Amino acid sequence: MIHVEQHGPVTVFRMARAFLGRPIYWTAAYLVDGLLIDAGPRRTAQELVAAVERTLDGQPLRQIVVTHGHEDHIGGLAALRQRFPAAPVYASRRTRTLIEDPDRLAMQRYRRFLWGKPRPLDGVRLLDEIDNRVETPDYILRVVETPGHSPDHVSFFEPTQRWLFAGDAFIGGRDQACSPEFDLFSTLGTLRMLSDLRPERLFPGSGHVRRTPQPELHEKIGYLKRLANEVVKLDALGMTAPEMVACLFDGEPPVRFWTGGHFSATNFIKACRSYNAVFFTDDAGARKPKGVERLQHTGSGDSVDRSAGS
Ligand SMILES: [Zn+2]
Repeated sequence: MIHVEQHGPVTVFRMARAFLGRPIYWTAAYLVDGLLIDAGPRRTAQELVAAVERTLDGQPLRQIVVTHGHEDHIGGLAALRQRFPAAPVYASRRTRTLIEDPDRLAMQRYRRFLWGKPRPLDGVRLLDEIDNRVETPDYILRVVETPGHSPDHVSFFEPTQRWLFAGDAFIGGRDQACSPEFDLFSTLGTLRMLSDLRPERLFPGSGHVRRTPQPELHEKIGYLKRLANEVVKLDALGMTAPEMVACLFDGEPPVRFWTGGHFSATNFIKACRSYNAVFFTDDAGARKPKGVERLQHTGSGDSVDRSAGS
């Protein structure tokens, strides 16, 4: 299914596979000034092509860019190419590799069920070729590297409108599970940088457009830092990962079951440990209790949070 909404000059296409008549998980593409940002999954490719055509109403589709190489963002590219052969497709170098050879995505069964496997596409151009500036008749979008959700992720920022097309670099809410690909260190660096851009409209991969993104970006940074901080403390107490999952999240969330373990709270604990290891290690590679003591001395244990909020 596909829903189309208008936010000023930006058209939002929200797409989902329906199961028993209900959407399972939304993903989005955006159209502005003849530029399509992201292409949705293969399952909704024909619906997207038809919706883009209707929205363009005779105007040309000038170009397509993608934020990253996940199947719910590149799966519609082959169908779009067929219908709009004159529109060049731009991606980062790492993303292009995935578009050309989707086998590299190593998709689990649930991903093939939800989104479908993308058809390979050749002739994708690099964002580097256009100096990481995407120009439309009325706007210039700057390409910003935003790794963390995936290593190839980029976002697009329009400085005069303060629009931020963030793909999955920003996912709202307090997530309790992640894939093994998630990198907390890169994610926090990305979120801080996105906040520094002072966006006034945030267009995320979910299609749920944010009109006041700053508080949500700060909230997200604070949440992730607090979680990592909790893991430092529980590690110092000698807790195992399953014990931490029980303690911090009340057990594994349902998503672990239906993704066959690809998304899990255990992965989240691992991501926190890997992040903490950057800060709290001694020469032997062990976590440094001194760091924990320092955090405990603050009383609320929020010294790390404070540095994140600034
Ligand atoms: Zn993604």
